[in-house]
Amino acid sequence: MKKVYYLWVAASLIISSVALPAAGEKRPDRPKLVVGIVVDQMRWDYLYRFRERYAETGFKRILGEGFSCENTLLNYIPTYTAIGHASIYTGSVPAIHGIAGNEFFIQATGKSLYCTRDEEARSIGTPDENAAVGKMSPRNLQASTITDELELATNFRAKVIGVSLKDRASILPAGHAADAAYWFDGDSGCWITSSWYRDALPAWLEEYNRTRPAEKLLALDWNPLYPIETYLQSAPDDNPYEEPFSGNVSPRFPVKTSELARTLGAGLIRSTPHGSTMTLDVARLAIDNEALGADEITDFLAVSLSSPDYIGHQFGPNSIKIEDAYLRLDKELGEFLSFLDKRVGKGNYLLFLTADHAGAHNAQFLLDNDIPAGNWKEGETRTALNLHLKERFGKEKLVASLSNYQVTFNRALLDDAIDRDALRAATVAFLEQVEGVAFVVEMEKVASAPIPAAIRERIINGYNRALSGEIQIIMKPAWYSDRDRRGATHGTWNPHDSHVPLLWMGWGIPRGRSNTEVYLTDIAPTVAALLRVQMPNGCIGKPIIDILK
Ligand SMILES: [Zn+2]
Repeated sequence: MKKVYYLWVAASLIISSVALPAAGEKRPDRPKLVVGIVVDQMRWDYLYRFRERYAETGFKRILGEGFSCENTLLNYIPTYTAIGHASIYTGSVPAIHGIAGNEFFIQATGKSLYCTRDEEARSIGTPDENAAVGKMSPRNLQASTITDELELATNFRAKVIGVSLKDRASILPAGHAADAAYWFDGDSGCWITSSWYRDALPAWLEEYNRTRPAEKLLALDWNPLYPIETYLQSAPDDNPYEEPFSGNVSPRFPVKTSELARTLGAGLIRSTPHGSTMTLDVARLAIDNEALGADEITDFLAVSLSSPDYIGHQFGPNSIKIEDAYLRLDKELGEFLSFLDKRVGKGNYLLFLTADHAGAHNAQFLLDNDIPAGNWKEGETRTALNLHLKERFGKEKLVASLSNYQVTFNRALLDDAIDRDALRAATVAFLEQVEGVAFVVEMEKVASAPIPAAIRERIINGYNRALSGEIQIIMKPAWYSDRDRRGATHGTWNPHDSHVPLLWMGWGIPRGRSNTEVYLTDIAPTVAALLRVQMPNGCIGKPIIDILK
Protein backbone atom coordinates (compact mmCIF):
# COMPACT_ATOMS: atom_id res chain seq x y z
CA MET A 1 0.00 0.00 0.00
CA LYS A 2 2.77 2.35 1.03
CA LYS A 3 4.62 1.50 -2.18
CA VAL A 4 1.55 2.37 -4.25
CA TYR A 5 1.26 5.69 -2.42
CA TYR A 6 4.89 6.57 -3.17
CA LEU A 7 4.41 5.64 -6.81
CA TRP A 8 1.38 7.90 -6.90
CA VAL A 9 3.35 10.77 -5.32
CA ALA A 10 6.22 10.23 -7.74
CA ALA A 11 3.87 10.15 -10.73
CA SER A 12 2.06 13.30 -9.66
CA LEU A 13 5.38 15.09 -9.15
CA ILE A 14 6.40 14.18 -12.69
CA ILE A 15 3.05 15.33 -14.04
CA SER A 16 3.14 18.61 -12.13
CA SER A 17 6.64 19.35 -13.33
CA VAL A 18 5.67 19.22 -16.99
CA ALA A 19 2.21 20.76 -16.83
CA LEU A 20 1.19 24.41 -16.78
CA PRO A 21 -0.16 25.55 -13.44
CA ALA A 22 -3.96 25.31 -13.81
CA ALA A 23 -6.06 28.47 -13.64
CA GLY A 24 -6.64 29.48 -10.03
CA GLU A 25 -3.92 27.17 -8.77
CA LYS A 26 -1.49 28.91 -6.45
CA ARG A 27 1.64 29.85 -8.33
CA PRO A 28 4.91 28.99 -6.62
CA ASP A 29 6.48 32.03 -5.00
CA ARG A 30 9.45 31.73 -7.27
CA PRO A 31 10.15 30.00 -10.58
CA LYS A 32 12.04 26.72 -10.49
CA LEU A 33 14.69 28.05 -12.80
CA VAL A 34 15.82 31.39 -14.17
CA VAL A 35 17.46 31.22 -17.58
CA GLY A 36 19.41 34.29 -18.65
CA ILE A 37 20.41 34.23 -22.30
CA VAL A 38 22.82 36.83 -23.65
CA VAL A 39 23.33 36.86 -27.42
CA ASP A 40 26.70 38.53 -27.87
CA GLN A 41 26.47 41.52 -30.28
CA MET A 42 22.76 41.02 -31.06
CA ARG A 43 21.26 44.22 -32.43
CA TRP A 44 17.64 44.95 -31.50
CA ASP A 45 16.67 45.19 -35.17
CA TYR A 46 17.66 41.55 -35.83
CA LEU A 47 14.34 40.63 -34.16
CA TYR A 48 12.58 42.18 -37.13
CA ARG A 49 15.11 42.31 -39.92
CA PHE A 50 15.15 38.52 -40.38
CA ARG A 51 11.65 37.93 -38.99
CA GLU A 52 10.12 36.68 -42.23
CA ARG A 53 12.09 33.45 -42.04
CA TYR A 54 12.10 32.98 -38.28
CA ALA A 55 10.21 29.88 -37.11
CA GLU A 56 7.22 30.16 -34.76
CA THR A 57 9.23 28.42 -32.03
CA GLY A 58 12.17 30.78 -31.43
CA PHE A 59 12.29 34.58 -31.30
CA LYS A 60 8.69 34.81 -32.55
CA ARG A 61 7.47 32.56 -29.74
CA ILE A 62 9.13 34.73 -27.10
CA LEU A 63 7.75 37.88 -28.75
CA GLY A 64 4.27 36.31 -28.88
CA GLU A 65 4.11 34.68 -25.44
CA GLY A 66 6.31 37.06 -23.52
CA PHE A 67 7.18 40.72 -23.08
CA SER A 68 9.51 42.79 -25.22
CA CYS A 69 11.26 45.91 -23.95
CA GLU A 70 11.79 47.42 -27.38
CA ASN A 71 13.86 50.39 -26.29
CA THR A 72 16.62 48.89 -24.16
CA LEU A 73 19.88 50.85 -24.18
CA LEU A 74 23.33 50.58 -22.70
CA ASN A 75 23.79 53.54 -20.35
CA TYR A 76 27.60 53.62 -20.20
CA ILE A 77 30.63 53.48 -22.46
CA PRO A 78 32.64 51.68 -23.69
CA THR A 79 30.19 49.09 -25.01
CA TYR A 80 32.17 45.85 -24.83
CA THR A 81 31.45 42.24 -23.87
CA ALA A 82 32.82 42.12 -20.33
CA ILE A 83 31.13 45.36 -19.31
CA GLY A 84 27.83 44.29 -20.85
CA HIS A 85 27.73 40.99 -19.00
CA ALA A 86 28.83 42.60 -15.73
CA SER A 87 26.22 45.35 -16.09
CA ILE A 88 23.35 42.98 -16.92
CA TYR A 89 24.01 40.83 -13.87
CA THR A 90 25.00 43.54 -11.33
CA GLY A 91 22.50 46.18 -12.48
CA SER A 92 25.49 48.46 -12.25
CA VAL A 93 28.08 50.30 -14.35
CA PRO A 94 31.90 50.32 -14.66
CA ALA A 95 32.20 53.29 -12.25
CA ILE A 96 30.93 50.95 -9.55
CA HIS A 97 31.35 47.31 -10.61
CA GLY A 98 34.97 47.78 -11.67
CA ILE A 99 34.85 45.99 -15.03
CA ALA A 100 36.07 48.93 -17.11
CA GLY A 101 36.66 47.05 -20.37
CA ASN A 102 37.51 43.61 -21.66
CA GLU A 103 41.00 44.76 -20.84
CA PHE A 104 41.84 47.92 -18.94
CA PHE A 105 44.69 49.69 -17.12
CA ILE A 106 45.19 49.78 -13.39
CA GLN A 107 45.96 53.49 -13.41
CA ALA A 108 48.09 53.40 -10.25
CA THR A 109 50.53 50.85 -11.66
CA GLY A 110 50.10 51.31 -15.40
CA LYS A 111 49.63 47.54 -15.75
CA SER A 112 46.98 46.25 -18.07
CA LEU A 113 44.49 43.78 -16.63
CA TYR A 114 42.21 41.32 -18.42
CA CYS A 115 38.73 41.52 -16.88
CA THR A 116 38.61 37.99 -15.45
CA ARG A 117 42.34 37.33 -15.02
CA ASP A 118 43.14 35.84 -11.62
CA GLU A 119 46.75 34.84 -10.95
CA GLU A 120 45.67 32.89 -7.87
CA ALA A 121 43.25 30.66 -9.76
CA ARG A 122 44.27 27.32 -11.24
CA SER A 123 43.06 26.10 -14.60
CA ILE A 124 40.75 23.07 -14.28
CA GLY A 125 40.28 20.77 -17.28
CA THR A 126 43.51 21.67 -19.10
CA PRO A 127 46.61 19.44 -18.92
CA ASP A 128 48.55 22.32 -17.30
CA GLU A 129 46.90 23.94 -14.27
CA ASN A 130 48.87 27.11 -15.00
CA ALA A 131 47.38 27.45 -18.47
CA ALA A 132 46.37 31.11 -18.90
CA VAL A 133 43.01 30.08 -20.41
CA GLY A 134 41.83 28.81 -17.02
CA LYS A 135 43.48 31.25 -14.62
CA MET A 136 40.21 33.15 -14.41
CA SER A 137 37.64 34.15 -11.83
CA PRO A 138 35.15 36.92 -10.93
CA ARG A 139 37.71 38.42 -8.49
CA ASN A 140 37.91 41.74 -10.39
CA LEU A 141 34.12 42.20 -10.33
CA GLN A 142 33.56 44.48 -7.34
CA ALA A 143 29.76 44.26 -6.95
CA SER A 144 27.42 41.34 -6.29
CA THR A 145 25.42 39.85 -9.14
CA ILE A 146 21.74 38.87 -9.21
CA THR A 147 23.04 35.29 -9.24
CA ASP A 148 25.01 36.02 -6.02
CA GLU A 149 21.86 37.51 -4.51
CA LEU A 150 19.87 34.38 -5.33
CA GLU A 151 22.55 32.34 -3.56
CA LEU A 152 22.42 34.67 -0.53
CA ALA A 153 18.61 34.59 -0.48
CA THR A 154 18.54 30.78 -0.40
CA ASN A 155 21.48 30.33 1.97
CA PHE A 156 23.46 29.02 -1.00
CA ARG A 157 20.99 26.23 -1.73
CA ALA A 158 20.27 27.59 -5.22
CA LYS A 159 22.36 26.12 -8.00
CA VAL A 160 23.96 28.71 -10.26
CA ILE A 161 25.87 27.79 -13.40
CA GLY A 162 27.35 29.90 -16.18
CA VAL A 163 28.01 28.58 -19.70
CA SER A 164 29.69 30.39 -22.60
CA LEU A 165 32.47 29.98 -25.14
CA LYS A 166 34.04 33.15 -23.67
CA ASP A 167 35.43 32.98 -20.14
CA ARG A 168 34.23 36.51 -19.31
CA ALA A 169 30.71 35.81 -20.61
CA SER A 170 30.41 32.77 -18.36
CA ILE A 171 32.19 34.02 -15.22
CA LEU A 172 30.77 37.53 -14.83
CA PRO A 173 27.10 36.40 -15.12
CA ALA A 174 27.57 33.37 -12.84
CA GLY A 175 28.99 35.69 -10.19
CA HIS A 176 31.14 35.06 -7.14
CA ALA A 177 29.11 32.43 -5.33
CA ALA A 178 28.26 30.25 -8.33
CA ASP A 179 28.50 26.47 -8.32
CA ALA A 180 30.38 26.66 -11.60
CA ALA A 181 31.16 28.64 -14.71
CA TYR A 182 32.29 26.75 -17.81
CA TRP A 183 33.97 28.09 -20.90
CA PHE A 184 35.70 26.77 -24.01
CA ASP A 185 39.42 26.27 -24.55
CA GLY A 186 40.07 26.49 -28.29
CA ASP A 187 43.55 24.93 -27.98
CA SER A 188 42.40 21.68 -26.40
CA GLY A 189 38.87 21.75 -27.86
CA CYS A 190 37.55 21.16 -24.33
CA TRP A 191 35.22 22.94 -21.92
CA ILE A 192 37.03 24.00 -18.76
CA THR A 193 36.64 25.93 -15.50
CA SER A 194 38.89 27.28 -12.75
CA SER A 195 39.74 26.43 -9.14
CA TRP A 196 37.60 29.40 -8.05
CA TYR A 197 34.65 27.07 -8.54
CA ARG A 198 35.84 23.46 -8.41
CA ASP A 199 38.91 21.24 -8.17
CA ALA A 200 37.86 18.96 -11.03
CA LEU A 201 35.45 18.99 -13.95
CA PRO A 202 32.17 17.17 -13.28
CA ALA A 203 32.05 13.68 -14.82
CA TRP A 204 29.32 14.69 -17.29
CA LEU A 205 31.47 17.46 -18.74
CA GLU A 206 34.57 15.26 -18.95
CA GLU A 207 32.47 12.73 -20.81
CA TYR A 208 31.21 15.43 -23.19
CA ASN A 209 34.78 16.63 -23.80
CA ARG A 210 35.79 13.07 -24.68
CA THR A 211 33.27 13.10 -27.55
CA ARG A 212 35.36 15.91 -29.17
CA PRO A 213 32.25 18.06 -29.76
CA ALA A 214 33.98 20.92 -31.60
CA GLU A 215 35.72 18.65 -34.10
CA LYS A 216 32.47 16.79 -34.76
CA LEU A 217 30.55 19.98 -35.47
CA LEU A 218 33.32 21.49 -37.60
CA ALA A 219 33.31 18.34 -39.71
CA LEU A 220 29.81 19.38 -40.85
CA ASP A 221 31.14 22.53 -42.61
CA TRP A 222 29.05 25.70 -42.72
CA ASN A 223 26.63 25.75 -45.61
CA PRO A 224 23.78 28.27 -45.80
CA LEU A 225 20.40 26.96 -44.64
CA TYR A 226 18.64 28.19 -47.79
CA PRO A 227 19.64 28.81 -51.43
CA ILE A 228 22.15 31.65 -51.39
CA GLU A 229 20.07 33.87 -53.72
CA THR A 230 17.21 33.92 -51.18
CA TYR A 231 19.19 35.94 -48.61
CA LEU A 232 17.55 39.19 -49.66
CA GLN A 233 18.41 41.07 -46.48
CA SER A 234 22.15 40.86 -47.03
CA ALA A 235 24.90 42.00 -49.40
CA PRO A 236 26.10 39.54 -52.06
CA ASP A 237 28.18 36.67 -50.67
CA ASP A 238 31.40 37.93 -52.21
CA ASN A 239 32.07 41.51 -51.16
CA PRO A 240 35.02 43.62 -49.98
CA TYR A 241 33.67 44.29 -46.49
CA GLU A 242 34.09 40.83 -45.00
CA GLU A 243 37.19 39.25 -43.51
CA PRO A 244 37.95 35.83 -45.03
CA PHE A 245 38.88 32.94 -42.77
CA SER A 246 42.65 32.85 -42.92
CA GLY A 247 43.61 30.47 -45.69
CA ASN A 248 40.40 31.30 -47.54
CA VAL A 249 41.02 33.85 -50.29
CA SER A 250 37.35 34.78 -50.43
CA PRO A 251 34.82 34.93 -47.59
CA ARG A 252 32.22 33.11 -49.74
CA PHE A 253 30.08 30.13 -48.82
CA PRO A 254 30.46 27.22 -48.39
CA VAL A 255 32.81 27.59 -45.45
CA LYS A 256 34.78 24.36 -45.37
CA THR A 257 35.29 24.26 -41.62
CA SER A 258 36.29 20.60 -41.90
CA GLU A 259 39.38 21.65 -43.87
CA LEU A 260 40.04 24.98 -42.12
CA ALA A 261 40.05 23.25 -38.73
CA ARG A 262 43.20 21.38 -39.72
CA THR A 263 45.18 24.61 -39.61
CA LEU A 264 43.02 26.83 -37.40
CA GLY A 265 42.18 24.20 -34.75
CA ALA A 266 39.02 23.70 -32.71
CA GLY A 267 38.91 27.40 -31.76
CA LEU A 268 37.57 28.03 -35.27
CA ILE A 269 34.16 26.94 -33.98
CA ARG A 270 33.81 30.34 -32.26
CA SER A 271 33.36 32.06 -35.64
CA THR A 272 30.68 29.68 -36.91
CA PRO A 273 27.06 28.97 -35.88
CA HIS A 274 28.29 25.59 -34.55
CA GLY A 275 29.62 27.53 -31.55
CA SER A 276 26.06 28.26 -30.39
CA THR A 277 25.03 24.63 -30.99
CA MET A 278 27.83 23.44 -28.74
CA THR A 279 27.09 26.05 -26.05
CA LEU A 280 23.41 25.07 -25.91
CA ASP A 281 24.46 21.39 -25.73
CA VAL A 282 26.48 22.17 -22.61
CA ALA A 283 23.54 24.17 -21.20
CA ARG A 284 21.21 21.17 -21.70
CA LEU A 285 23.73 18.81 -20.12
CA ALA A 286 24.07 21.13 -17.12
CA ILE A 287 20.29 21.21 -16.65
CA ASP A 288 20.03 17.42 -16.79
CA ASN A 289 23.11 16.47 -14.81
CA GLU A 290 22.98 19.17 -12.16
CA ALA A 291 19.19 18.84 -11.80
CA LEU A 292 18.65 22.56 -12.45
CA GLY A 293 15.02 23.52 -11.89
CA ALA A 294 14.21 20.11 -10.46
CA ASP A 295 13.24 21.10 -6.91
CA GLU A 296 11.43 23.97 -5.20
CA ILE A 297 14.58 26.06 -4.74
CA THR A 298 15.10 28.40 -7.65
CA ASP A 299 18.22 27.72 -9.72
CA PHE A 300 19.88 30.02 -12.26
CA LEU A 301 21.43 29.12 -15.60
CA ALA A 302 23.35 31.96 -17.27
CA VAL A 303 24.01 31.18 -20.92
CA SER A 304 25.90 33.49 -23.24
CA LEU A 305 26.12 32.80 -26.96
CA SER A 306 29.41 34.23 -28.20
CA SER A 307 29.51 33.07 -31.81
CA PRO A 308 27.19 35.83 -33.11
CA ASP A 309 29.83 38.33 -31.88
CA TYR A 310 32.72 36.59 -33.63
CA ILE A 311 30.66 36.27 -36.81
CA GLY A 312 29.55 39.90 -36.59
CA HIS A 313 33.14 41.09 -36.19
CA GLN A 314 34.38 39.06 -39.12
CA PHE A 315 31.56 39.67 -41.59
CA GLY A 316 29.45 42.62 -40.36
CA PRO A 317 25.67 43.08 -39.94
CA ASN A 318 24.93 43.18 -43.67
CA SER A 319 26.44 39.78 -44.47
CA ILE A 320 24.74 36.55 -45.45
CA LYS A 321 26.86 34.99 -42.70
CA ILE A 322 25.06 37.03 -40.04
CA GLU A 323 21.63 36.47 -41.60
CA ASP A 324 22.26 32.73 -41.75
CA ALA A 325 23.68 32.68 -38.23
CA TYR A 326 20.50 34.29 -36.85
CA LEU A 327 18.18 32.01 -38.84
CA ARG A 328 20.05 29.06 -37.36
CA LEU A 329 20.12 30.56 -33.88
CA ASP A 330 16.35 31.09 -34.08
CA LYS A 331 15.80 27.37 -34.75
CA GLU A 332 18.20 26.32 -31.99
CA LEU A 333 16.58 28.72 -29.56
CA GLY A 334 13.22 27.11 -30.36
CA GLU A 335 14.62 23.66 -29.62
CA PHE A 336 16.13 24.91 -26.38
CA LEU A 337 12.79 26.40 -25.29
CA SER A 338 10.95 23.15 -25.94
CA PHE A 339 13.67 21.34 -23.99
CA LEU A 340 13.02 23.71 -21.05
CA ASP A 341 9.25 23.08 -21.40
CA LYS A 342 9.82 19.33 -21.10
CA ARG A 343 12.41 19.36 -18.33
CA VAL A 344 11.37 22.26 -16.13
CA GLY A 345 7.78 22.76 -17.28
CA LYS A 346 6.19 25.51 -19.28
CA GLY A 347 5.45 28.36 -16.90
CA ASN A 348 7.91 27.09 -14.30
CA TYR A 349 10.93 28.94 -15.63
CA LEU A 350 11.62 32.62 -16.05
CA LEU A 351 13.62 33.48 -19.13
CA PHE A 352 15.18 36.70 -20.32
CA LEU A 353 17.11 37.23 -23.53
CA THR A 354 19.24 40.26 -24.21
CA ALA A 355 22.64 41.30 -25.57
CA ASP A 356 25.80 42.65 -23.98
CA HIS A 357 26.03 45.26 -26.77
CA ALA A 358 24.96 45.57 -30.39
CA GLY A 359 27.18 46.31 -33.40
CA ALA A 360 27.77 48.84 -36.15
CA HIS A 361 28.09 48.47 -39.91
CA ASN A 362 31.39 48.33 -41.73
CA ALA A 363 32.50 51.93 -42.35
CA GLN A 364 33.44 51.43 -46.00
CA PHE A 365 30.09 49.72 -46.68
CA LEU A 366 28.28 52.81 -45.30
CA LEU A 367 30.52 55.19 -47.28
CA ASP A 368 29.90 53.23 -50.48
CA ASN A 369 26.18 53.76 -49.83
CA ASP A 370 26.58 57.51 -49.22
CA ILE A 371 26.11 57.26 -45.45
CA PRO A 372 28.72 59.15 -43.36
CA ALA A 373 31.28 56.94 -41.62
CA GLY A 374 35.01 56.59 -41.21
CA ASN A 375 38.00 54.73 -39.88
CA TRP A 376 39.95 56.51 -37.18
CA LYS A 377 43.65 55.82 -37.53
CA GLU A 378 44.22 55.12 -33.86
CA GLY A 379 47.86 54.06 -34.14
CA GLU A 380 48.82 57.10 -36.22
CA THR A 381 47.01 59.37 -33.79
CA ARG A 382 48.87 57.92 -30.82
CA THR A 383 52.26 58.34 -32.52
CA ALA A 384 51.50 61.92 -33.56
CA LEU A 385 50.11 62.78 -30.12
CA ASN A 386 53.22 61.42 -28.41
CA LEU A 387 55.46 63.49 -30.71
CA HIS A 388 53.38 66.58 -29.99
CA LEU A 389 53.54 66.01 -26.23
CA LYS A 390 57.29 65.36 -26.40
CA GLU A 391 57.85 68.77 -27.97
CA ARG A 392 55.86 70.39 -25.21
CA PHE A 393 56.85 68.34 -22.13
CA GLY A 394 60.21 66.84 -23.16
CA LYS A 395 59.40 63.16 -22.69
CA GLU A 396 58.76 60.36 -25.15
CA LYS A 397 55.70 58.11 -25.11
CA LEU A 398 53.72 59.97 -22.48
CA VAL A 399 50.58 58.29 -23.82
CA ALA A 400 50.58 54.57 -23.08
CA SER A 401 47.32 53.72 -24.81
CA LEU A 402 44.25 55.02 -26.64
CA SER A 403 42.35 51.77 -26.18
CA ASN A 404 38.68 51.80 -25.11
CA TYR A 405 38.59 55.31 -26.73
CA GLN A 406 40.35 56.60 -23.61
CA VAL A 407 43.74 58.18 -23.12
CA THR A 408 45.87 56.35 -20.58
CA PHE A 409 49.05 58.23 -19.73
CA ASN A 410 52.29 56.49 -18.95
CA ARG A 411 52.22 57.16 -15.21
CA ALA A 412 55.82 56.07 -14.63
CA LEU A 413 56.93 59.09 -16.70
CA LEU A 414 54.75 61.62 -14.92
CA ASP A 415 56.94 63.37 -12.35
CA ASP A 416 56.56 66.74 -10.63
CA ALA A 417 58.17 68.51 -13.60
CA ILE A 418 55.09 67.79 -15.70
CA ASP A 419 52.04 69.92 -15.01
CA ARG A 420 49.20 67.38 -15.19
CA ASP A 421 46.54 69.96 -15.97
CA ALA A 422 48.64 71.30 -18.82
CA LEU A 423 49.29 67.77 -20.11
CA ARG A 424 45.59 66.92 -20.17
CA ALA A 425 44.68 70.23 -21.76
CA ALA A 426 47.32 69.80 -24.49
CA THR A 427 46.09 66.28 -25.17
CA VAL A 428 42.47 67.37 -25.45
CA ALA A 429 43.37 70.27 -27.76
CA PHE A 430 45.38 67.92 -30.01
CA LEU A 431 42.74 65.18 -30.19
CA GLU A 432 39.95 67.65 -30.94
CA GLN A 433 41.65 68.34 -34.28
CA VAL A 434 41.74 64.67 -35.33
CA GLU A 435 39.42 63.66 -38.16
CA GLY A 436 36.37 61.72 -36.98
CA VAL A 437 36.55 62.94 -33.38
CA ALA A 438 33.38 64.63 -32.11
CA PHE A 439 34.28 65.46 -28.49
CA VAL A 440 37.24 65.01 -26.20
CA VAL A 441 36.48 65.19 -22.50
CA GLU A 442 38.65 65.25 -19.41
CA MET A 443 36.99 62.68 -17.19
CA GLU A 444 37.23 64.77 -14.04
CA LYS A 445 35.63 67.75 -15.81
CA VAL A 446 32.88 65.84 -17.60
CA ALA A 447 30.09 67.36 -15.52
CA SER A 448 30.73 70.80 -17.07
CA ALA A 449 31.64 69.62 -20.59
CA PRO A 450 29.43 71.09 -23.34
CA ILE A 451 28.20 67.75 -24.68
CA PRO A 452 24.70 66.24 -24.94
CA ALA A 453 23.44 65.07 -21.56
CA ALA A 454 22.87 61.49 -22.76
CA ILE A 455 26.54 61.13 -23.71
CA ARG A 456 27.72 62.83 -20.52
CA GLU A 457 25.79 60.38 -18.39
CA ARG A 458 27.27 57.44 -20.30
CA ILE A 459 30.79 58.78 -19.76
CA ILE A 460 30.24 59.26 -16.03
CA ASN A 461 28.74 55.77 -15.66
CA GLY A 462 31.65 54.22 -17.55
CA TYR A 463 34.40 56.14 -15.77
CA ASN A 464 36.14 54.23 -13.01
CA ARG A 465 38.80 56.53 -11.55
CA ALA A 466 41.15 53.65 -10.71
CA LEU A 467 40.71 51.72 -13.95
CA SER A 468 39.76 54.08 -16.79
CA GLY A 469 41.89 56.47 -18.85
CA GLU A 470 41.92 60.14 -17.86
CA ILE A 471 40.47 61.44 -21.12
CA GLN A 472 37.50 60.16 -23.11
CA ILE A 473 37.32 60.37 -26.91
CA ILE A 474 33.82 60.45 -28.43
CA MET A 475 33.88 59.67 -32.14
CA LYS A 476 31.35 60.92 -34.70
CA PRO A 477 28.62 58.35 -35.41
CA ALA A 478 29.93 55.37 -37.46
CA TRP A 479 33.57 56.30 -36.84
CA TYR A 480 35.63 53.49 -35.36
CA SER A 481 39.21 52.57 -34.75
CA ASP A 482 40.79 51.35 -37.99
CA ARG A 483 41.88 48.10 -36.37
CA ASP A 484 38.60 46.76 -37.77
CA ARG A 485 38.81 47.83 -41.40
CA ARG A 486 37.08 44.68 -42.63
CA GLY A 487 34.13 43.19 -40.81
CA ALA A 488 32.61 45.40 -38.14
CA THR A 489 32.85 46.35 -34.51
CA HIS A 490 31.26 48.14 -31.54
CA GLY A 491 32.33 50.04 -28.45
CA THR A 492 30.78 53.52 -28.69
CA TRP A 493 27.70 55.20 -27.22
CA ASN A 494 25.67 55.38 -30.44
CA PRO A 495 22.49 53.29 -30.93
CA HIS A 496 24.08 50.94 -33.48
CA ASP A 497 26.22 49.71 -30.58
CA SER A 498 23.93 50.35 -27.65
CA HIS A 499 20.36 49.40 -28.66
CA VAL A 500 19.75 45.76 -27.76
CA PRO A 501 16.81 43.35 -27.51
CA LEU A 502 15.33 42.59 -24.10
CA LEU A 503 12.78 39.79 -24.13
CA TRP A 504 11.09 38.12 -21.17
CA MET A 505 9.04 34.93 -21.09
CA GLY A 506 7.61 32.42 -18.66
CA TRP A 507 7.02 32.57 -14.92
CA GLY A 508 5.43 35.84 -13.83
CA ILE A 509 5.73 37.52 -17.24
CA PRO A 510 2.70 39.12 -18.91
CA ARG A 511 2.26 39.31 -22.67
CA GLY A 512 3.10 42.62 -24.23
CA ARG A 513 5.62 45.11 -25.39
CA SER A 514 6.73 48.55 -24.40
CA ASN A 515 8.72 51.36 -25.97
CA THR A 516 9.58 52.92 -22.63
CA GLU A 517 13.31 53.59 -22.50
CA VAL A 518 14.96 51.11 -20.15
CA TYR A 519 18.60 50.19 -19.62
CA LEU A 520 20.76 47.12 -19.38
CA THR A 521 21.13 47.94 -15.69
CA ASP A 522 17.37 47.47 -15.16
CA ILE A 523 17.49 43.72 -15.83
CA ALA A 524 18.99 42.63 -12.50
CA PRO A 525 16.61 44.68 -10.32
CA THR A 526 13.66 43.40 -12.39
CA VAL A 527 14.72 39.79 -11.81
CA ALA A 528 15.24 40.65 -8.14
CA ALA A 529 11.71 42.07 -7.92
CA LEU A 530 10.21 39.02 -9.65
CA LEU A 531 12.09 36.60 -7.37
CA ARG A 532 11.58 38.80 -4.30
CA VAL A 533 15.28 38.72 -3.48
CA GLN A 534 17.56 41.67 -2.67
CA MET A 535 18.88 43.61 -5.64
CA PRO A 536 22.68 43.45 -6.13
CA ASN A 537 24.75 45.76 -3.94
CA GLY A 538 26.06 47.99 -6.73
CA CYS A 539 22.71 48.24 -8.51
CA ILE A 540 21.72 51.64 -9.91
CA GLY A 541 18.99 50.29 -12.23
CA LYS A 542 15.25 50.22 -11.58
CA PRO A 543 12.72 47.40 -11.89
CA ILE A 544 10.86 47.57 -15.21
CA ILE A 545 7.37 48.46 -14.03
CA ASP A 546 5.61 47.49 -17.29
CA ILE A 547 6.51 43.87 -16.63
CA LEU A 548 5.67 43.89 -12.94
CA LYS A 549 2.18 45.45 -13.24
ZN1 LIG B 1 32.64 42.04 -29.85
